[in-house]
Amino acid sequence: MSGSNTGFCTKCNTTINVIQKYHDSTHHQAQVQITFKDSQFESIQRSEHDNQFHCPCGNYQSPNPTGIRKHAKIHPKPITLER
Ligand SMILES: [Zn+2]
Ligand SMILES: [Zn+2]
Repeated sequence: MSGSNTGFCTKCNTTINVIQKYHDSTHHQAQVQITFKDSQFESIQRSEHDNQFHCPCGNYQSPNPTGIRKHAKIHPKPITLER
């Protein structure tokens, strides 16, 4: 119990109860590159609508880049239509 896991984020003026690095990744990281089960990859932008990363499969979203990276490994890259 060092107490170093609490702090204050000056980017959103909020007290945080996780380490800054983790808070940054779940709140301020704008994009994440995910790798699918078939080794294809894609860069995902954090949604401005709900502040989460959305998997192109449409079945998963998370504010945590680690969460969506883990999720992407369970299925191959979905076919996405360009228009
Ligand atoms: Zn913040
Ligand atoms: Zn997915």
